[in-house]
Formats: sequence, C-alpha cells, structure tokens
Amino acid sequence: MSTPSGPAADPTLDPALQSWVESANDPASDFPIQNLPLCGFVAERDGHAHAHLGVAIGDQVVDVSMLAEAGAIADDDEEVLDALSDPFWYGVLGVPGMAGRVRPVLQRFLRADTAAGQRARRVRSKALRPISETRFLEPVHVFNYTDFYASVHHATTVGSMFRPENPLLPNYKHIPIGYHGRASSLVVSGTPVRRPWGQQAPPDNEPEAGPSFAPCRMLDYELEVGAVIGVGNRMGEPIAVGEAHRHLLGLCLVNDWSARDIQKWEYQPLGPFLAKNFATTISPFIVTLEALAPFRCPAPARPKGDPCPLAYLVDEGDQAAGGFDITLEVLIRTEKMAAQGLDALRLSRGSFRHMYWTVAQLLTHHASGGCNLQPGDLLASGTVSGPEPESRGCLLELTWQGHGPDGKPRPRKPIDLPTGETRTFLADGDEVIMRGHCVRDGFRRIGFGECRGKVEPART
Ligand code: CA
Repeated sequence: MSTPSGPAADPTLDPALQSWVESANDPASDFPIQNLPLCGFVAERDGHAHAHLGVAIGDQVVDVSMLAEAGAIADDDEEVLDALSDPFWYGVLGVPGMAGRVRPVLQRFLRADTAAGQRARRVRSKALRPISETRFLEPVHVFNYTDFYASVHHATTVGSMFRPENPLLPNYKHIPIGYHGRASSLVVSGTPVRRPWGQQAPPDNEPEAGPSFAPCRMLDYELEVGAVIGVGNRMGEPIAVGEAHRHLLGLCLVNDWSARDIQKWEYQPLGPFLAKNFATTISPFIVTLEALAPFRCPAPARPKGDPCPLAYLVDEGDQAAGGFDITLEVLIRTEKMAAQGLDALRLSRGSFRHMYWTVAQLLTHHASGGCNLQPGDLLASGTVSGPEPESRGCLLELTWQGHGPDGKPRPRKPIDLPTGETRTFLADGDEVIMRGHCVRDGFRRIGFGECRGKVEPART
C-alpha cells in the first residue's frame, strides 16, 4: 500500500482543525487555522512604535513577536523560536524550510484542542488585535521588485491596441517578459496613492504642439499576484525550474498602479519607467506555499501550434502542478459611493490559473542569466487577465472596445456606477480593492485578505 502524500497527508491542512479564535472557524473566513499568512504591524509599547510579526487568524492578528518574547510560544525547536524574534520575518526568509517549521508551532498555539491552545486562550486579550484596528507594515522588507507580463490574455488585448493584426510580439511565447521595477515606492494596503505628474505626448491631431507636463489623466490599476522569494541563489548560479518552489516563501496581492498616458509617451524603447514607479501597493499578508499546497493546479496547456518553451524553462512537475487556482476580484468605491454608504462595486473576477507562464518559470528565467534573487524580493506576475472579458485585470482592458471598421480604435466604454457616475480611468477619491481566495473540495477555503488603495489628488 502506498503512503498518502501531497496536501491530503499534511496534518496542518486537515479541514477538521478548529481554532479557539472563533471567527477563524467561519467557513467564509479568509484566515482559518489552515492558512496562517505572515504579516507585520505596528505595536505601541511604552509610548514607542515597534515593528512586530503577526499571523492573521479569523478577523484577528496574533502578535507573534510579543508571544515569542514572553515565552508563550513553547517549542523544542530552538531555531523556530529564534526565527520568530527577527523583524520582517528575516529569521524565516533565508532559511530553507523554515516557513514549514514555524507553521505547526503557531498552529498548536491556536488550536482549540491542544493544551497549548487552552493556555493561550488565557492571554487572548494581549495576544490578539482586530485586523480592522491594526496598522500593517510591509510583511517583509522588499529590496528588489520585478514586474512580469505573464498573462497571454492581457498581453494580447493590450498588444491589439497598437497592432490589431499581430498583437503578440514574436518573443512572447518563448521568453517570460519582465522589467525591473522600483522597490522604494512599494506601499502596504491602505496607504493613499497620490496621482502622479508626468510627461505626456502631444495630442494625436496636434503633433507639433509638443509634449506637456501635467497630472496623469489616465490613472489605472493592475491586478497582480506577487511571489515573495524566501531563499535566494548565489550570483551566477541559476535555479532549475523543478527547484524553483524551494526558493519561494509564498504569494500576496499586488496593485501595480499605472499612469497610461505617461506610459504611452515614455515606454519605447526601454519599457515603462515613471508610469509605474510612483507607487505599487501590496497586501499585508503573505500566504505561504504550505497553505497553498491544495490549490496547486496544472500549468495551462499551450494551444496547438504554440512553441514548446526552451528546455531550461520546462519541468514535468511544473507542468503538472505549477499553477495556482486563485480566484481574484477587483472592486471600486468612489467617494460618492462611500458617502452614500454603498458597497464597493465589483469590476472583474478571474483566476490566476490561466497565466501563460508559471511562477516557477518566472523565477527560473529571472535567475537564468546569473542574477541573484534575494530573500524578500518581490516578483509580480503582471496583470492577471483571463480569457473572459469580465476577467480583465485593469481598466485599460475593461473599457477597451477594439477597432472600428475604419481601423481606428472605438471610443472607450465607460463603466457605469450605482451613483450614476462613470469611469474610464480612475478619479480622485476612488478606492480600488483587490481580493483573492482559493477553494477546493476536502479543504478549508483560504483567502489573501485585501489590497486597498485610495487615489489622492495630484500635488498642486
Ligand atoms: Ca504590471
């Protein structure tokens, strides 16, 4: 008889596990005890602000740093206890397998049916704080940020705006396209985002007018999934695609804010620059690979006629389970909607499973020329758009109507809002909210929390 393996054999994923934090047992919760995503937050102590490690559970955050310091999290594994005393999860990031070792220790503390859990209940008021009242920090300190372009549906729709006959450039199906982004302007969910100023092309009908410098008029979001590097590689040493997941700590949500008018004027020949680097928002929670194990899925089959990727990007295991089945949504709430007490309106819904390139392929390609990835690096997927129009992950695509019979682009179709307002691109005061979750029979639903950002007016 063969021994069971895979997620079904992992006791930390047992759907029957319950927590003494009651809200975590709600089947609709993003953060059951089977998830335990990593975060960082501000803890006030003796009148000073400290960066603490946290783990989300139900509608609460567990103050991991405080508990570790107080000796409340007991374990024989001294290395695990040490790992919990460094800020920004430094003690977990660079150590192979450490996230997997921390997980059962925290879970024992939060379980309803363990002696440790019974003791933990008694420190409840000190150990927990509501997510809604928590000031989050970046979950890890990100030194390097790279942005890919891994959705063939996004690349095709955007490419068709400029090249209707031939939307994909000849390299797309051979090489994961990416560029180096800017880490200094990464902000955590909830941080307001100021509309940028920038150079814009002269109007199409007045090319002699010259470019202008003005606040962005075509501000957009991009729904992306971020892969956080745990263990790096040495400079010059590539990462085999079959080994790539050993270098990955987990996934989070990313809003790669984009100034489309600035982008249009500046992106050739070297790619996006100021159109992207004014702000990028990440969700406060890193969902670990351990928690995501049940939701792995095959990489999408390449359509007949598509080239096979080069050998360094191919691995049987990656083809079989390199995808992640994550349902992703984008919502908007304008200032007027908020004033009228209206719920945010869903703009799109799709799945991360349709990406043309797997996360492992992105990581392997990144390191293939000798580039060293470092613990805490963020590799964003590129806009996640699926095959259906309702799964388009940015306004540039959602309001696009293709070209008319005269070969010219049709006017963009604005999105109608319940207040009677319309949007083609974002207005000041708009809040963009991204969410993600995973479901599969036989496992607990897990979620990513929210990645939020509100647009502030350009500086005057
Ligand atoms: Ca992007």
